[in-house]
Amino acid sequence: METGIRVHQVYAGRVLQGSGALALVPDEVERLGAQRVLVIAAPSSAGVAQDLAAGLEERYAATFGRPVQHSPVEVTAEALALAGEVRADALVAIGGGSAIGLSKALAGRTGMPQVAVPTTYAGSEATPVLGETENGVKTTRRDPALAPSSIVYDPDLTLALPRGLTLTSALNALAHAVETLWDTGASAATRAYAVESADGILAALPVVLDRPSDVQARARLQESAWLAGACLAQAQMGLHHQLAHTLGGTFGLPHAELHALLLAHVMRFNLAAAPDAAARLTRLANGDPTLAVASLASMHDGPTTLRALGVPRDALREVAERVAANPYPNPRPVTADAVEELLLAAW
Ligand code: NAD
Repeated sequence: METGIRVHQVYAGRVLQGSGALALVPDEVERLGAQRVLVIAAPSSAGVAQDLAAGLEERYAATFGRPVQHSPVEVTAEALALAGEVRADALVAIGGGSAIGLSKALAGRTGMPQVAVPTTYAGSEATPVLGETENGVKTTRRDPALAPSSIVYDPDLTLALPRGLTLTSALNALAHAVETLWDTGASAATRAYAVESADGILAALPVVLDRPSDVQARARLQESAWLAGACLAQAQMGLHHQLAHTLGGTFGLPHAELHALLLAHVMRFNLAAAPDAAARLTRLANGDPTLAVASLASMHDGPTTLRALGVPRDALREVAERVAANPYPNPRPVTADAVEELLLAAW
């Protein structure tokens, strides 16, 4: 029944922030009462995972070092077998959304508690959402049991994040905040997260691109990514996430790059129909927010168009029709013709 009453779901959990916070992971594991930790580490975090294993002492059980984007179920089965072999009773994931996704996939199957140590700005650590792929088909589910118990944000772990991933991952986070601002069902709390997140990303990202080892600016970006993740957890995502989901799933595209190149196009499409979001974003960007995002996106050295990502032009109509046939909630009505036009511009 539509009552007009809003429900704001807050995910309980602990969030530790600051340079050197990685050293507190063993304490977080101890709080969970865990005895045998399976560490899930992105290949880029192999060295950090070794230090962590040493810090966990007798609580360390094993490391699984090959998480894959969009959590393919075969990879989860491999990691699950290892967890069983070493009798793991808790998970620590270090890496981007792929490492954290695998951790959620294991938690969903075993009930093991998780500590997440993010090294990108994707925001997955703050959500109860898991996307998994089986036979090339991606399905997403939402369950409070999938959310990590603790998140440890250590900006030092992001200092070596390459320029391209820094830029595209931060724009991925910004997309969560922007879609929250035009979600008509958003609560005062999610709007507050979204404004603070977008403000932080728009202010800190140019500084980080200029000075990648500026740890304070990195910390601001990471904090903004946390709030963006909290937005993703609590607000309804619209056309932007639907397009990223549909295109990413159909053509197996790199997650952050796809989000980064789409965002300005979807803002151009939606903002005239979302005056409150437009006013807030204009204040935060000190000018036209769509131009500000397009200008950031254009600074990427890698692919910045759907064409460069390898999407065939003759597939755009079908994608547009699929999206229009089953639209996510969106401020501007979604028709196949209008979406095709947007996709052509992004192509
Ligand atoms: P990713 O985790 O796939 O990482 C991309 C690459 O960057 C990997 O090769 C990784 O090893 C490397 N990397 C990560 N951190 C690094 C660092 N600090 N320095 C150097 N290299 C580093 O990419 P991502 O964009 O973080 O995550 C994408 C995945 O997360 C997708 O599967 C997406 O669906 C999922 N995701 C899920 C949610 C959710 O709420 N469920 C939210 C956002 C993203």
